[in-house]
Amino acid sequence: MSIDLILTGNVVTPFNVYERTSIAVKGGKIVSIGDKSSMPAAQEEVDVKDLVILPGAVDTHTHSLGTPEEGHWNSTSAAAAGGVTTINDHPLDIGGAPSSPSDLQNKAEKTAKEAIVDFSLLAGGLPEKLDDILASANAGITGYKMLMHSTSGAHLYGMRAVDDGELYAMFKNIAKVDQVGMVHAENEWMINYLVDEWTKQNKTYLAAHHETRPEVAETVSVCTAIELARDLNMRLHIVHVSVPRSFDLIERARAEGVKVTGETCPHYLLANHDLWKEVGSHFKINPPLRSEESRQGLWKKIREGKVHMISSDHAPHPGIQEPNVFDNPSGSPGIETMLPLVFHEGVYKGNIDLPKLAQLMSYNPARLMGLYPQKGSIEVGSDADFAILDPQKEWVIEGGKLRAQSKWSMFEGMKITGKVVSTYVRGTKVFEDEEVIGQRGYGQWVKKVRNYDL
Ligand SMILES: [Zn+2]
Repeated sequence: MSIDLILTGNVVTPFNVYERTSIAVKGGKIVSIGDKSSMPAAQEEVDVKDLVILPGAVDTHTHSLGTPEEGHWNSTSAAAAGGVTTINDHPLDIGGAPSSPSDLQNKAEKTAKEAIVDFSLLAGGLPEKLDDILASANAGITGYKMLMHSTSGAHLYGMRAVDDGELYAMFKNIAKVDQVGMVHAENEWMINYLVDEWTKQNKTYLAAHHETRPEVAETVSVCTAIELARDLNMRLHIVHVSVPRSFDLIERARAEGVKVTGETCPHYLLANHDLWKEVGSHFKINPPLRSEESRQGLWKKIREGKVHMISSDHAPHPGIQEPNVFDNPSGSPGIETMLPLVFHEGVYKGNIDLPKLAQLMSYNPARLMGLYPQKGSIEVGSDADFAILDPQKEWVIEGGKLRAQSKWSMFEGMKITGKVVSTYVRGTKVFEDEEVIGQRGYGQWVKKVRNYDL
């Protein structure tokens, strides 16, 4: 058997670190892992010495079509440069959220012409199109996105905050087809009330954004979603959880047998709302950044095993341009810096070990979305998707150099340790030495195979 590639380095799986180990790749798949001396010769042999070979990151939460400038070429270039080998594209697309099988097929065909890393698709959960939930269940989707809060620009995507009755109706159909419902959990009515109050008092400065979104506006919606999922026996995933207490609520429900998981994002793990005040002239994000106590609380939840995954919520909006904070869009670029930031704050600073990093960023996301074992791990039979990370390399984040078209970063000027130096998708190098070298259209649609109970 001739081998295409043998890659040697410190191999990280979701459960172990294997120092100086080789991975043999053929036809884009991993065919063996072990000592190089036991492997046949390969066409190409790469030894990354003491660098870390991680399973490519799987991002459950990417918005590629929510701004006119971005698109899948840019979002997947940013992904490749950040060691992300599969993106799960959310349906908040300008022109309308895909919900029917033909909408999804169209989106997949267009995406496949642009993407350089692999992608999966999440369908829009729309109360006006309840039948689409049933019709699209087996179209290869990873689940349905639903909004409990009309996040900025939602009208452009044909999505809006649904009420509890509509959520109940959608959850019922999702449960019927045993799919996953992914929910943006923030309370529309509480936030609208507070924004009105603040506006009446002319409090439209930058910090008004987080002042009008207290933590309880998230936890109350998490409770509602959990209770509905529990009653209907639906698989629930809460996206971008920003409050430690939300993970306690999720854990309590899991102890009762509710199939619920939660993801948090790098910005809640690396920044607090004081940073937001400093660099807030550039951005808003939903949910907002929280207190330092809550930021540290999220790390505690991670160490306790209550956080299931970390996603980017990559949504590269232009940032603050209007004087009234409420008139600006929310969303931040994030996919390119996600893995290095979590490595820096997590592994480098001693909060988690490398296998835990692989669980949070590859293995658990791939299982939630039903893409494992094709994606999410380094094991025989899996796709040869790797992020090669230099754990010693120090660098400074510069928004202008990132591939996202927004050209800013909320971590501008931050010095971090740990950098992605190359990325492989199905055995092909798509990023190396600061250059994205993947071919436009190389990325493939990855479909859900089955559900896993996380
Ligand atoms: Zn999002």
